[in-house]
Amino acid sequence: EEKVTQIQIIDWFKKIAETIEENKDYLTELDAAIGDADHGINMDRGFKKAIAQLVQNRNSDIGTLLKTIAMTLISSVGGASGPLYGTLFLRASSAVAGKQELTAQDLANLLQAGKDGVIQRGKANLGDKTMLDALSPAVETYTTAIAQNRSLVDALREAVLATEEGMKKTIVLVAKKGRASYLGERSAGHQDPGATSTYLILRCLLEVLEK
Ligand code: ADP
Ligand code: MG
Ligand code: MG
Repeated sequence: EEKVTQIQIIDWFKKIAETIEENKDYLTELDAAIGDADHGINMDRGFKKAIAQLVQNRNSDIGTLLKTIAMTLISSVGGASGPLYGTLFLRASSAVAGKQELTAQDLANLLQAGKDGVIQRGKANLGDKTMLDALSPAVETYTTAIAQNRSLVDALREAVLATEEGMKKTIVLVAKKGRASYLGERSAGHQDPGATSTYLILRCLLEVLEK
């Protein structure tokens, strides 16, 4: 049976920190169009701090690692995205508490719990032009694929494609939550920054597992 190891989870967050740094200006430009031009800055600061904490806790189980990430994001990222991603990883950590490796089903539980956390914290619905529009198709697609006995990596590959589609679909949407909602109809025609960072985060996991 395919598993995700504790080392791969650490590598996932290292890759996230690198990828967010590479896309810092891009994420900030997306946020400049419909928000306050800080999403790349917020995410880069948060994940750099999270990595520093992770390195100090490198021998912890996966639940503890995710909790460390979550607490760092909550305490170091201002803005909507800090508490939302913080809640995502905090719920994810509870779903896999004490585990040294994850089965395909554990990863499904992790993703589902993270999504539920984002919904409870942010109260967004699908189609509100938020990170949920990228996260939700990922969870649905991954869960369906493993229920059909697809391998973990194949299921995640499909999920990342669905996430990318969800991210692109945010372009036409009118924002109903967050700062972009202040623009009303004028928010349409721009891709949501948070949906974009969610896509990057999930793509990083696939890249680590495909190695
Ligand atoms: P802020 O808007 O406070 O400056 P960021 O720019 O870091 O925070 O993050 C903005 C992103 O947060 C948006 O692009 C959107 O995806 C996400 N977001 C905002 N509000 C919500 C919400 N209520 N539920 C889910 N996601 C949200
Ligand atoms: Mg912003
Ligand atoms: Mg802000």
